[in-house]
Amino acid sequence: MAKKYVYSFDEGNKDMRTLLGGKGANLAEMTRLGINVPFGFTVSTEACIRYYDESEQLWDELVKEIEANIKKTEEKVGKKFGDDTNPLLFSVRSGAVVSMPGMMDTVLNLGLTDVSVEGLAKHTDNPRFAYDSYRRFIQMFSNVSKGLDVEKFEEILADERKKAGVELDKDIPAENLKEVVRRYKELYKEETGHDFPQDPEQQLLDAVAAVFKSWNNERARYYRNMNDIAHDLGTAVNVQTMVFGNGGDNSGTGVAFTRDPSTGENILYGEYLINAQGEDVVAGIRTPSHISELEKQMPEIYKQFHETGERLEQHYRDMQDLEFTIDDGTLYILQTRNGKRTAQAAINIAVDLVEEGLRTKEEALMMINPNDLDQLLHPTFNQEALSKATPVARGLAASPGAATGYISFSAGDATLRNAKEEPVILARTETSPEDLQGMDSAKGILTSRGGMTSHAAVVARGMGKCCVAGAHEVHINEKEKTVTIGDLVLGEGDMISLDGSTGNIYHGQIETQDPELTGKFAKFMEWADENRRLKVRANADTPHDAQQALDLGAEGIGLCRTEHMFFAEDRINAVREMILASTKEQREKALAKIEPIQENDFYEIYKVMEDKNVTVRLLDPPLHEFLPHTDEEIAIVADELGVTILEQKKAIDELHEVNPMLGHRGLRLAITFPEIYQMQARAIIRAALRVSKELGVEVEPEIMIPLAGDPRELKVVTDSIRKEIEQIFEETGITLNYHIGTMIEIPRATLLADEIAEIAEFFSFGTNDLTQMTYGFSRDDAGKFLSQYLDDGIFEKDPFQVIDQKGVGQLMANAVKLGKRTRKDLHLGICGEHGGEPSSVAFCDDLGLDYVSCSPFRVPISRLSAAQKTIRDRQHKMTRLVESL
Ligand code: PEP
Ligand code: MG
Repeated sequence: MAKKYVYSFDEGNKDMRTLLGGKGANLAEMTRLGINVPFGFTVSTEACIRYYDESEQLWDELVKEIEANIKKTEEKVGKKFGDDTNPLLFSVRSGAVVSMPGMMDTVLNLGLTDVSVEGLAKHTDNPRFAYDSYRRFIQMFSNVSKGLDVEKFEEILADERKKAGVELDKDIPAENLKEVVRRYKELYKEETGHDFPQDPEQQLLDAVAAVFKSWNNERARYYRNMNDIAHDLGTAVNVQTMVFGNGGDNSGTGVAFTRDPSTGENILYGEYLINAQGEDVVAGIRTPSHISELEKQMPEIYKQFHETGERLEQHYRDMQDLEFTIDDGTLYILQTRNGKRTAQAAINIAVDLVEEGLRTKEEALMMINPNDLDQLLHPTFNQEALSKATPVARGLAASPGAATGYISFSAGDATLRNAKEEPVILARTETSPEDLQGMDSAKGILTSRGGMTSHAAVVARGMGKCCVAGAHEVHINEKEKTVTIGDLVLGEGDMISLDGSTGNIYHGQIETQDPELTGKFAKFMEWADENRRLKVRANADTPHDAQQALDLGAEGIGLCRTEHMFFAEDRINAVREMILASTKEQREKALAKIEPIQENDFYEIYKVMEDKNVTVRLLDPPLHEFLPHTDEEIAIVADELGVTILEQKKAIDELHEVNPMLGHRGLRLAITFPEIYQMQARAIIRAALRVSKELGVEVEPEIMIPLAGDPRELKVVTDSIRKEIEQIFEETGITLNYHIGTMIEIPRATLLADEIAEIAEFFSFGTNDLTQMTYGFSRDDAGKFLSQYLDDGIFEKDPFQVIDQKGVGQLMANAVKLGKRTRKDLHLGICGEHGGEPSSVAFCDDLGLDYVSCSPFRVPISRLSAAQKTIRDRQHKMTRLVESL
């Protein structure tokens, strides 16, 4: 039997999306349910694929199938296609498997000819309506099928409006519409060299081919690239009996959601127009009425619509987005689909659906894209204010949220202005650890250099602060205090607004609103926690961040970066003395100044976290990052160390490195200056002892050594720390359990993980550095060229955001396997940025890690991602079980 390509609406169902497209499958499903859907048929996506295989021609069998379905529709509807007195007309619409709203083409009122338009006028006793339908058809068909410019048609229409002395299309009299039709046909002939087709079947075949063609138009291809939709799926074509919303005041058309798509509230939400066709609602020329008005205007229709909406919602077990037409007092449903919604609405609807008994908790958890939770956790722009603003430039969407403020060019200035309660945006070419306080004081951060794991991006995400990084078209001159974007030059007195979720930069102030973490959000997250295996910790290095992490559901701290503590004003000079010390004594003297302060830092963090796990990482960055810059700063340190300014400058120069990322950093510092890590270890243990005693809880410190690549270097450093700790126990007569582990962030460490695990009690994957060193891409510079890799499709994803499972992931898997071989109970985690990215979290679950650690504001995302991974695994297991029966 020949392959079937065309399905009438009573032959399909909702599970046939791949073949019939989303719209076609749902039209068939509604027909099956007995809902009043204008009858018709769907030409399948397979037909579209074959159309492209057959040099863009419709083949004979397909034409025969279409003809058979026209006949079937004629019988159902009781009208004839091409009839001269009461013609059956069709709408022809695209319908892809994945919805691509507005990207492809539609033709309405198809089947009208010079003769049948007269028949329609007589039959409906409404020539105005008949000619209005005909002129719409000619315009749409000419544009969609022959590519003629809509503007030329609009000019003719405007001219006739003028001649008739009316403002709106709906007021153009029939006589003028007849003239419009005449002129449209004349234009058609001029442009194509042919008369406007008068054979309805030819019109239909042309329109079907045109919809197939529109699958590959420029905007559809762009949309698919943007949304990761495959180009070879093809579109279906839905050919449906026309019903008319434009036949008079007893008719109309509209769209509605079964719940409010911005809040999730369980009320009908939508709009409609009386005496109009669908495109009038979209065109925005007339202002539609709110759907609640329909209850007053047409109570019986409203009741039917309301009931149908509820029924479809129950059936699909999700909020529906409906299109409807009222044709002379009869309600028809033209489309239903799961409605798009904001993140806030999505959570509220998911929780409500569980409480209404329509969904299980597991299903509700699977309804939310974890990344969408981001929208809920940060300030956002007021949508109305945003709709009036146009971006002046764009950078990387480095840390989500919305911010608006005056431009500030230095950390110091940002701090000062913040103290005066002035909102500021810190604008820097790039940031460094020195800018920390200024970043904390700013509402948002803008940089013109750096990628997604640049300092600005990582720190901003940690703070939950909006950041647009690497905006190459923005020139920031810190000296001149100017921000230049093309011809636009802005200074300290100007306001800018940043959208860290899109990377957009706006000139001027845009109102923002704070997030509301409602009861339903908390409930939803509780369900996620009940369903996950992976633990979720946070990267946090201040008591404030630690508290925020706890509030967002973190179960511990997976990475406390101690370098951030070194920059605070009360200690930076002592840190500089330590670095520039030329003797051990000088260094120890400086360290003695830092030690009590550092102990207090840990004490405060432990106090917040109590007995929850806290992994403190010892000093990591190259020392030169802490060096004094200005003459004044240099003089202070020189004075303290008793050297001349010249000698001091020479010492600073000597610390300069060609490639600091691969230089004297991490545990290499402790090989040369063991006193630094020894001091930090003492501070950690003393703080833990104090908190254990004061709060009566058992603090169990985890001390993490960064950048190990060789077992012997790790052993030297670990032994030296352990000795210090044991000495404290001896001195105080009190002990506690503690663990020394390492970051796995150098490829060599993953290859020698069995030997590393002989020394380290735990591993935490530092996938920022591991990605950098596996690819040989600088974290700070890759942003400049990686975008090209993504644009050209060489890479699907930025490996600094999404774990490269093939390469970096293979090294991780190797480290897990070798590490566990040596130490069965090796505790495993990840603390690179990937710990907050859904697909990477799922990968970590597969690797059998114990936890992921991410910025506090990504903790809910990781909690949900981990839950979804567990649920998916459970579902696969069930499927396999069923298959094996
Ligand atoms: C890493 O390298 O993944 C990491 C967490 O450490 P940092 O970003 O501080 O180098
Ligand atoms: Mg690192």
